[in-house]
Amino acid sequence: MILPVEIKQFVNDGATFYVSHSGGKDSQAMYALLRRHIPYNQIVVVHAHLGEVEWPGVVQHIQSNVDHHVNIVRAVKKDGSEKTLLGMVEERGMWPSSSCRQCTSDLKRNPIMKFIRHDVRTRQTNPQKIAINCMGIRAEESAARAKKQPLRFNESESCNVRDVWDWMPIFDLTTTDVFQVIADAGQKPFWTYERNERLSCVFCIMGSLNDLRHGAERNPELYRKYVDLENRIGHTMFMKGKEPVYLEEHIGIPAAEPTWTG
Ligand code: SF4
Repeated sequence: MILPVEIKQFVNDGATFYVSHSGGKDSQAMYALLRRHIPYNQIVVVHAHLGEVEWPGVVQHIQSNVDHHVNIVRAVKKDGSEKTLLGMVEERGMWPSSSCRQCTSDLKRNPIMKFIRHDVRTRQTNPQKIAINCMGIRAEESAARAKKQPLRFNESESCNVRDVWDWMPIFDLTTTDVFQVIADAGQKPFWTYERNERLSCVFCIMGSLNDLRHGAERNPELYRKYVDLENRIGHTMFMKGKEPVYLEEHIGIPAAEPTWTG
């Protein structure tokens, strides 16, 4: 990995590198590479936790593959209670979509930025208050992502007391490269990659049939919740052409009836 000259300068200036870690392969490879090039005390790891909709064990996976403390952030509502994906869907009466990914902005990006704003203020070792928001986004993932600038000044998050930059350190890596970086670090990706293409919410609004089916097989109770929620609000996560299609029909797995223990 060759560090851009701007990044080398930020390292010299004492900038803090905030590594957004989802537990997925891209985050894991990004951290492994940064660990080689950025001084230990200039790295901070942050995970935006999505609660029950995440694959169980993700937090433990991150913790066992980083040398840093893992800061866990969650989205909160104005009244201080936790904001959850299923709660948001229930309140809005609709699912987010790939063109309007409110789930990503509300549940991941915003809590991470809130953490960065607070943390950078308190860092004595970062006199210029430079925050580098590191994201494991890669050009190969989609045409839209390929058009992104891998290093960009984040104007809306910067102000007279801090400079925030968005950086995509593994922007040019292929999927094969990513798995190789993980192997070279002596690590393994999260176990779901044995079958999944991506690690996201168990049931992602952009999930492939393969990943959704695996999610339903391994997490029947959570699957039931999604199926029930779709039925209750009458709005579906997916469309078939221009028609809505309910999750059970979409993936072809009937949800189990709830089990009563009382
Ligand atoms: S993984 Fe999918 S459903 Fe979950 S927050 Fe991200 S885009 Fe939304």
